[in-house]
Amino acid sequence: MNFQELKLIQPILQALSKENYTAPTPIQERSIPSVLEGRDLLGCAQTGTGKTAAFSLPMIQLLSGSMGRARRDRPIRGLILSPTRELALQISDNIQAYSQFTQVSCLAIVGGVSQSGQERALAQGADILIATPGRLMDLLNQKVINLGAVEMLVLDEADRMLDMGFINDVKKIIAKLPAKRQTLFFSATMPPEIAHLADSLLKDPVKVEV
Ligand code: AMP
Repeated sequence: MNFQELKLIQPILQALSKENYTAPTPIQERSIPSVLEGRDLLGCAQTGTGKTAAFSLPMIQLLSGSMGRARRDRPIRGLILSPTRELALQISDNIQAYSQFTQVSCLAIVGGVSQSGQERALAQGADILIATPGRLMDLLNQKVINLGAVEMLVLDEADRMLDMGFINDVKKIIAKLPAKRQTLFFSATMPPEIAHLADSLLKDPVKVEV
């Protein structure tokens, strides 16, 4: 199997080749076609399996379709929730690399840095927002961010969100998103509370375990 067979568009294939990715990993092979078809996904996978590209590549492709307006006039349409600042920044770096030959833009919003800089960056516009729950809740409460146009949600490392005490923030954030959306849910383990959350968020998901 190669990336062409997964029906990825040319600008993404070009980026993958520049990154020296020669073949998809098993989770990429099994997730990308279903996500491109618009299906919800439940992924049981650890870091190191290539799960970031498994959700980022189809997200970039699906969002790259409607680029009519200028970047600053486009709403956030993809939201990725990550338990830690390090993981959020890593996802953002990866998406920047994968989307470099497209017009899709991304922005990471994490705690521990000045909020005014983040507000300026938000004003420039971003198609994909990668965020940790705490800082995102702050910005939502201050009405600095509008998530009313989000079409795709990724919940990454859901079990770590639970361990770190973020699960209530995560639920509150998700309650602010449009109900009509595609949801991708990743967790390395499935304790009952996480399985229950997945159940409540996903509609007829494709299940991929690696
Ligand atoms: P992740 O599990 O998403 O954290 O990815 C683990 C590492 O594998 C990252 O450094 C990625 O850049 C890299 N990676 C992901 N997919 C591929 C691939 N298909 N070929 C080569 N490297 C990859």
